[in-house]
Amino acid sequence: MAQGNEQIAWPVESVPDSDALYYRVHRQFWAITGPNPGAFRDRCNPCSVCGDKKFRYDAMDKNYKCGKCDMVLPGGGMSTDWAKYSTPEDARKRAAKPAENAVAVAQAGSVRAVPGMLVEHNPVLGNRAHTNVKGDKKSAPDGTQIRVLLSRVFQTILPL
Ligand SMILES: [Zn+2]
Repeated sequence: MAQGNEQIAWPVESVPDSDALYYRVHRQFWAITGPNPGAFRDRCNPCSVCGDKKFRYDAMDKNYKCGKCDMVLPGGGMSTDWAKYSTPEDARKRAAKPAENAVAVAQAGSVRAVPGMLVEHNPVLGNRAHTNVKGDKKSAPDGTQIRVLLSRVFQTILPL
């Protein structure tokens, strides 16, 4: 889904720890028990300066940057939908092919408890619920990859 460069249509709000986040997962990343670690990945728009598609997360700046020219790439992260403005069904319908997607759920506070993860409301045109989970998903600060920890936090709410 396109994100990041659209006109902001709604104010950015803070997401309470007790609120739910819905995460749509394509069937290729869906195990019997829920999302597998490979489902937890970031997306960024291509660099607006050099056009490169590679990006990296800068933990000091808390931003995604172009892998080539170091330009900050706004709007990057793992796209979830905040329950304040979305149902699980809405989250599934935003997929290109809804029937090929399951939906998982986690509390914002549980996501924030995973090392390095930030939960940031990022409303985009057509989706007030859009919320990014920012942070390097592949790092392994304590020997376990962040995306493995995320796969334990997110539970099935709408199976395939
Ligand atoms: Zn660039």
